[in-house]
Amino acid sequence: MDTQMLIGSRFEAGTETEEQVLDPRTGALIKAIPEASQAQIDAAVSAADTAFATWSRTTPAQRSGYLLRIAQAIEDDAEAFAALEALNCGKPINAVRNDEIPAIVDCWRFFAGAVRNMHSTVAGEYLPGHTSMIRRDPIGIVASIAPWNYPLMMMAWKLAPAIAGGNTVVFKPSEQTPLTALKLAKVMADILPEGVVNVVLGRGDSVGNALINHPRVSMISITGDVATGKKVLQAAAKSVKRTHLELGGKAPVIVYDDADIEAVVDGLRAFGYYNAGQDCTAACRIYAGPKIHDKLVADLSAAVSTIRFNQQDDTQNEIGPLISRRQRDRVASFVERASELPHIKIATGGHTAGDKGFFYEPTVIAGALQTDEIVRREVFGPVVSITRFTDPEDAIAWANDSDYGLASSVWTQDVNKAMQTAARLQYGCTWINTHFMLVNEMPHGGLKQSGYGKDMSMYALEDYTAVRHVMINHG
Ligand code: NAD
Repeated sequence: MDTQMLIGSRFEAGTETEEQVLDPRTGALIKAIPEASQAQIDAAVSAADTAFATWSRTTPAQRSGYLLRIAQAIEDDAEAFAALEALNCGKPINAVRNDEIPAIVDCWRFFAGAVRNMHSTVAGEYLPGHTSMIRRDPIGIVASIAPWNYPLMMMAWKLAPAIAGGNTVVFKPSEQTPLTALKLAKVMADILPEGVVNVVLGRGDSVGNALINHPRVSMISITGDVATGKKVLQAAAKSVKRTHLELGGKAPVIVYDDADIEAVVDGLRAFGYYNAGQDCTAACRIYAGPKIHDKLVADLSAAVSTIRFNQQDDTQNEIGPLISRRQRDRVASFVERASELPHIKIATGGHTAGDKGFFYEPTVIAGALQTDEIVRREVFGPVVSITRFTDPEDAIAWANDSDYGLASSVWTQDVNKAMQTAARLQYGCTWINTHFMLVNEMPHGGLKQSGYGKDMSMYALEDYTAVRHVMINHG
């Protein structure tokens, strides 16, 4: 198991406090890994700074070649990457192997192609005797900070467009899930020139804080909690760094009476509980029409009660545990508070599960009102609430009545209603008759307190490059 950080071309252990990396299925210690010192963080930034001078001047074709080699290396070692990610996050091996790894490999390949197609839009004479052109150039050193829910995928979403765009990076994985980042660091050290990507380890309030406040960092890219995003903004304000924020979510799902109920139930069973609901786009806040409501509560509860988890044979598991005891207890406390309300019924689930590890039962909460905490706050666990509406105007207003603005979905067989509703939802993404589907060609990112900046797609490449104007006076 790789446990050392990558600083320039050197692999070295952190010298500060150890962080315990746990197996969420059992709670057992996988490895205690020390975090970086200030001197090691400085050395990583310095290595990125030195590398920037040459990396930023490579051609798109050259950078594309490096990205393709990284993609190939992950694909060639897919089983080992999948096993390590499954161990560290408690994810079912099949989900990592079949869903995540192919999407991660595709992300690296997408940006390898995208950077060779990054064109500027303007070249012309806007002043007599002068030719203007627009360039897209790298920004500098990016401090890139990832969460624990999809460690290797977040690393791909952040690193691929950043280095494709000619930037160099100091990357910090979540202190809870550093293992696949350390394995990928080994791969990148073999493929990339020294210092293009550096990986440092540690907690948010120590190493993360030092990175976002570092005077030589030009851009901060973070996926995490809204509170963390606000700290990033405060740090960025000191030296006016560029920021790219992917924060939380609380995705509304509007189910009209004419929806195909079987498709809705299948969809919500999958997209409300995937990754044990630890997903910023999870379909967690349902608004159901008056005629479909009761059947939806009954059928969804029955379906959700069959979700397989905590089985000895992991290939049978559909979802895993929560990432930590803290997260599991947080989820449990949300459900407990909800269950104390007289109008709420826990239709299925509602308890912690298993005698070890951090499991929580897939849960459906019926009777929730728009003002309830369970409808308003991000739970980040396998918990879905259902709220009845009678007037479709209410459904749209309630869906938009949120601090978050990342993802949403609409379920109906009426295409006009679907398009009219989608047009009015204030979310970075709206799916129609599905939820959760991402492709590397399309952007992912939020509005409101879900942050801004896009992952995946050409828009990410734009976010990680600066628009510049060059004007020639030809006399
Ligand atoms: P978190 O904010 O606690 O941590 C995320 C990362 O930020 C970690 O690496 C952490 O060490 C670091 N961090 C924490 N405090 C910091 C600080 N003061 N300075 C610098 N870095 C700091 O979030 P989490 O609990 O790891 O992840 C769950 C959150 O991430 C949820 O809110 C979820 O919605 C969000 N998320 C959003 C997206 C998206 O695309 N919008 C995707 C995945 C997860």
